[in-house]
Amino acid sequence: MEQQLEELSKKANGELSSCEDAQALEAWRVAYIGRSGAVSELLRGIKDLSDEDKRVIGKNGNALRRELEERYQEKLHVLEKASSGRGVQATSYDLEAGVGHLHPLTLTMSRVHEIFASLGFIIADGPEVEEAKFNFDLLNIPAEHPARGEGDTFMVDPLSVNGAEGLVLRTQTSPMQIRSVEAMRLHPPFSVIAPGRVFRKEKVDATHESTFYQFEGLSVSETTSIADFKFIIETFFSTFFNAEVTIRLRPSYFPFVEPGFEVDMSCPFCKTGCKVCKYSKWIEVMGAGMVHPNVLKNMNIDPEKYQGFAFGGAIDRLAMIQYGINDIRLFWSGDVRFLRQFS
Ligand SMILES: [Zn+2]
Repeated sequence: MEQQLEELSKKANGELSSCEDAQALEAWRVAYIGRSGAVSELLRGIKDLSDEDKRVIGKNGNALRRELEERYQEKLHVLEKASSGRGVQATSYDLEAGVGHLHPLTLTMSRVHEIFASLGFIIADGPEVEEAKFNFDLLNIPAEHPARGEGDTFMVDPLSVNGAEGLVLRTQTSPMQIRSVEAMRLHPPFSVIAPGRVFRKEKVDATHESTFYQFEGLSVSETTSIADFKFIIETFFSTFFNAEVTIRLRPSYFPFVEPGFEVDMSCPFCKTGCKVCKYSKWIEVMGAGMVHPNVLKNMNIDPEKYQGFAFGGAIDRLAMIQYGINDIRLFWSGDVRFLRQFS
């Protein structure tokens, strides 16, 4: 019986070295060290032997089983390693189809960040679901103001929205004026820019979207004037469009500024009129003004001592002017034919 064990050992080891894949190895495991395999069969036969032989054969038989199990694990490891190596070679990726790039709105927003940061502005970010208090009340927009109506605003908590504790999807980035001063404990002089997504109940067409991006600017010091505003904004647009751009201000009304104005820039693409400026040589680009004393008070800034300007423009509009996009709906269309043009 000892001879049988020896032969079994030789045969099992010989066959194991010629196992080339997982399937052959599994067949080998079942044949030799499985529950009904050759080693178990042989050990089952020792019951008729003398006690002394039982002890010796039992010991050698179990030692052989352990040895074969160990060799089986080693072989399994080697085969797994080989097959995973082959796997890497066999799988290839179509890299050309998978290359992505930034969305035109992201490109435009990054450029806005970059230019204002170079002019000394801090970049701030805030919530899209906003308290009515920040979206309206603290910006000097009283409860009876038509902009607070359900016709313009997506209400999150409509029951209490006319009280300061209601919730809305912010209709503008202007709440960031107060929020950033509070959150960053800003004290004049400071300049801050807050780009972000805003929401309006607009009838969607080629120039109106219910969701778009704005950038809000605020600059306060003891001496900040409209001349400072003109310089900063002309520098911004000239850098953005890489052209000599001037701005002009037209009187307008926004509750959170006094005086308020609409800002037009000279067309960066022509001298005598073109399609982009509708042959007027001017393009309307943002609303702005000197911060209303009530708003300064709401920032805990003394309006007797400090003054500043605020402005708000649309990132989407800048991107449309820059890239010559004639339909705002394309930004959210997910149409790759449109998006691929900005790679
Ligand atoms: Zn033009």
